[in-house]
Amino acid sequence: MTEHRLTARRWQAIQQNDRQFDDVFWYGVTTTHIFCRPSCASRLPKKDHIQIFTSPQEAIAAGFRPCKRCAPTGHPVNNQLWVTEIDQVLSAHFKEPLSMTTLAAYVHGSTSYLRHTYKQVTGITPQQKLTELRLTEAARLLASTSQSVNWIAADAGLPNVPYFTTTFKTKFHATPRQYRKEHQHADR
Ligand SMILES: [Zn+2]
Repeated sequence: MTEHRLTARRWQAIQQNDRQFDDVFWYGVTTTHIFCRPSCASRLPKKDHIQIFTSPQEAIAAGFRPCKRCAPTGHPVNNQLWVTEIDQVLSAHFKEPLSMTTLAAYVHGSTSYLRHTYKQVTGITPQQKLTELRLTEAARLLASTSQSVNWIAADAGLPNVPYFTTTFKTKFHATPRQYRKEHQHADR
């Protein structure tokens, strides 16, 4: 198994984005399940989160997805696939205070490229999608729980209540309280 060890030399190659090691080894990041070439300019992962592979096929077989930025398989990563990946991250993290910078780091792209590509494929920005997910979750909680509006806003990832109420009204054409009144009985 020594060929899969993160040796000092490999760690140095990753830290220095050393091109000499491209096509020699690949590394996956266990927290994001994305894999890269050593030369990739994406944010340096924690040492403990790195898994070494000796081929891209091996990384894919282990459940890792190719990085959009360094395209470690030698083929460009399809935009549609990348958007699917972005959506997975959004769905898993929308309740957290997720900035576009953090999202971009998760999916290995720059914030501007992320915004541009996502909008090109879906017609909306990733920030809009994030708000959609939060409002949909808030609506579900309003109809299915008796938690306060403040609690629901915070739980759904929109802790600023006036902002939450305004965006909620724009989407559902009702205040959170009106929405609850109209939907709660139907579900019980
Ligand atoms: Zn990469």
